[in-house]
Amino acid sequence: MIFGHLPAGYITSKLLFNKLEARTGFYKAFMFWGMLGAIAPDLDLIYYYTIDVYKNPHHTYPTHLPFFWLILILISILWLRLNNHSQNPAFAFIFSFNGLIHLILDTFTGSVFWLEPLSSTPFSFVSLDLEYSSWGLNYFAHWAFVLELFIIWWSIFLRLKKH
Ligand SMILES: [Zn+2]
Repeated sequence: MIFGHLPAGYITSKLLFNKLEARTGFYKAFMFWGMLGAIAPDLDLIYYYTIDVYKNPHHTYPTHLPFFWLILILISILWLRLNNHSQNPAFAFIFSFNGLIHLILDTFTGSVFWLEPLSSTPFSFVSLDLEYSSWGLNYFAHWAFVLELFIIWWSIFLRLKKH
């Protein structure tokens, strides 16, 4: 997924803010960490283009492994339980939660190694046989793109909605 990640981060952060509001009254910082988490896995593209130079698909990096984000979520939940005063664990939680959502969404447009480190079988919700010769047609004419448009629509709806 390309365009849906940031709006998806907006949606989950906005919906979860009410639950964690007692921990952090700082809405803007919470949204910042949430939306950063939503795109954080793709920051590995910088490594892919500059250091790895196309050698390994970026979905094989730890930043695209669900296991990595699950551990971060567990650590942030533990931190939330141990520390009642600071708002940082709430930021850590929304950051890592949205990192995992990113991987769920990536599974609609590519493959993700959900069982790593137990098994290195890639998994995808869609068939990855390419129907068209152009990348754009394959991407935009796929039903998963409707899901992406829905996420974008939902985020705009939440943004404009009166409380
Ligand atoms: Zn990604």
